[in-house]
Amino acid sequence: MPFTEILGQEKAISYLKTLVQNGRVPGAFLFYGPAGVGKAKTALEFAKALNCLDPQARQTGEACGVCAHCKAISQHTHPDVVFADFLYQARREVKKDFSSGSYEEELEKELAKQQHINVDTIRDITAKAQQKAVGGGYKVLIIDEAQTMQGAAANALLKFIEEPPAKTVWILITSKRTAMLRTILSRCQPLAFAPLSQKNVEKILQNNQLATENLTLCATYSAGSVSGALKADNALTLLQEAGLGPNGCSPQGPAAVAAGLSRTLVAARQEAQAILDVLLQALHTAWTHTQDAQTQRRYAKTLQQVENYKRSLNRNVSPALVVETALCSLDGLNLPLFETEN
Ligand SMILES: [Zn+2]
Repeated sequence: MPFTEILGQEKAISYLKTLVQNGRVPGAFLFYGPAGVGKAKTALEFAKALNCLDPQARQTGEACGVCAHCKAISQHTHPDVVFADFLYQARREVKKDFSSGSYEEELEKELAKQQHINVDTIRDITAKAQQKAVGGGYKVLIIDEAQTMQGAAANALLKFIEEPPAKTVWILITSKRTAMLRTILSRCQPLAFAPLSQKNVEKILQNNQLATENLTLCATYSAGSVSGALKADNALTLLQEAGLGPNGCSPQGPAAVAAGLSRTLVAARQEAQAILDVLLQALHTAWTHTQDAQTQRRYAKTLQQVENYKRSLNRNVSPALVVETALCSLDGLNLPLFETEN
């Protein structure tokens, strides 16, 4: 995917293209902004532009997308470009002698456990950073979820991002800049990524064959992020499957939604969170659109309740119970959950 196909990040991309053109590339970046707006895609595209074999493409700051280097980077097989995220880490941690099930099952289990980019992964990447670039271009080391690095991992990284050798570029990616350690922040050139417009979220879903019948609704509830739209889609589907829809709700609705959540706690919690996010956004929109003071007060009160329910998800409360209680609190509000804003 060339830079031109990444929507809504024109400012960040135009800056990166200039760097490719003039060859003055800082040794360490922090790409920050909401989750699901194209930071990782941009990082990989930047790695391609820096390593592309087509001199004409490089003059424009773009990658050709078809040379051997561009292709290898797309396939995550380029020896000089590392893209480390939770999946990369889980792959390293799946035991070779896993006892049961298939490799995919083991990987999925391992992936669900990932919460921090750990020191072993950082050591693995720094070792790769020190190897000579075999392609003759740039070494590009990308670390996603960089805010999850704790003391040991961050310390292991520090001296490498301090003064990287020429033609070595570190790109740290985060959706929670405020959670990053100061020592790391101060060594990186920050680059902001903006939330996406609703139209761009819709276009990206369509371009990636992710559009569902709830396309416009998902974009409405996406908070400017593609991953937000996918979570909203999942939430809306769970609500619809339980009988909630444009024509109201069956009396069993809240209990049926709760019963439809996944069996595993981690997945159920994420689904519950997505449902509550949809409710919060719908409540907020309804609250800002109503003129009637009494109705406004009711919306405001319910908003606060649902906020509290959402917080309780992070404590040890059952996601099913939280979802059911939250949906029951909407009783009598006639909240337009399935109406798009126009
Ligand atoms: Zn190329």
